[in-house]
Amino acid sequence: MIKINNDYKVGDTLVFKKPHPCGNTKWEVLKYGVDCKLKCLGCGREIILSRVDISKRLKEIIHL
Ligand SMILES: [Zn+2]
Repeated sequence: MIKINNDYKVGDTLVFKKPHPCGNTKWEVLKYGVDCKLKCLGCGREIILSRVDISKRLKEIIHL
């Protein structure tokens, strides 16, 4: 069973364990739902990830 950390909302910053190809590990939450839209704070690319996938990658949450 995967423990899902849902303690974030739109505007929060998520720090992932592995960096994006641009070298950045911080993502801003643009949309929150079953799938969340995240924006890379390094290169500005936007991705959609499920909350399960986010919890696998999540290292830290920086609250707004
Ligand atoms: Zn990036």
